[in-house]
Formats: sequence, structure tokens, C-alpha cells
Amino acid sequence: MSVSCNLSLLTSTPTERSDTLDNGWCAERAGDVFRAVDPALAVQWSATKVAEVVEVKGHFRGRFGFDCSRCAEPAELTIEDSFEHHFVGPGQLDAGEETDGFDADPDISEHDGVQIELDELVIELALLALPTVPLCDEGCKGLCPQCGTNLNRSTCSCSPLADNRTPWAALQDFKIAGSR
Ligand SMILES: [Zn+2]
Ligand SMILES: [Zn+2]
Repeated sequence: MSVSCNLSLLTSTPTERSDTLDNGWCAERAGDVFRAVDPALAVQWSATKVAEVVEVKGHFRGRFGFDCSRCAEPAELTIEDSFEHHFVGPGQLDAGEETDGFDADPDISEHDGVQIELDELVIELALLALPTVPLCDEGCKGLCPQCGTNLNRSTCSCSPLADNRTPWAALQDFKIAGSR
């Protein structure tokens, strides 16, 4: 399913739409970290059209799963965001490029004279809404860098690392030892 609407359906009175955007994009573009929990994003939006200019306002929401960056346990998060976008008629963006800076504004693009499509717009916003370092909880204590105990669940008896040893150094030692 895509998020689109035929221009002939739009007038100067807002047209309310409720669409779903198939989450296939997640595996392709964020699949090394995230997996879609729901088959699709829910996208609520409305559009008005005056002459050739279409004004769109919308909101999307969806759940995604991931493995916590600190403790590696599976977790889920909900992303949602609101957006506004303007579409102008075919060819209008290039004509205005030099003078009014349409070209530089990511919130304005051209429609093809037949329909508007929001798929790529929503996918890019969804990618931006996914955190770079997803955590199961802001307070996640992670794994002990020495013994690997999940410190959210239990404690271990390892002594704290000396100041000049970062957790990464300990991890490196562990890897080297493991490969021998
Ligand atoms: Zn965690
Ligand atoms: Zn430990």
C-alpha cells in the first residue's frame, strides 16, 4: 500500500485520508538495526488543492523492534512524527530555482499533474525518527565488559576497570583471547 491521492479528488476544502505504508522499506534501509513489528506504518493526512498547489499535513506512527545497543536484549519502540509538505505543478520548481529558492526547500516538491505520492517523504522521516543508538531503556546498565553479565538482571563480582582501560579495550582483549 502506498500513501497517495489522485489530484482530481482534492479541492480547497481539506480532504482527510487514512493510509498505510508497507514497511518493506525497513528491511532494505534500516534492517541491520531495526525490524518492523507492524506490517505497515499508519499515516493520517489531509490535503487541500488551490490551483496547482497542494498543501499536505500528516502524521505517521509505527512500532519497530531492535536489539538494545548496550545489553543486546530485544526491545521495541514506537516512532511517530508530524509533517507538512507542499506540491507545486510540473515544471514549476525548476522555473523558480534561481529566484525564490524552491529548489533548496525540502518541504516543497513537484507533483506530476496526476497524483501526489508521499511514500518517500514518509520513509525518510521515519528513518530520521529511528534513533542512531537504540536502547531498551534510557537507564540500561548494559553488559559487564569483563564477564558479559547483563547488569540489568544481576550483578557480578568483577572489579571496576582501571581508569586507563575503557570497556572497548576489555572487549578487544576478549576477542583476541577468543580467537586463539
Ligand atoms: Zn538494554
Ligand atoms: Zn562482570
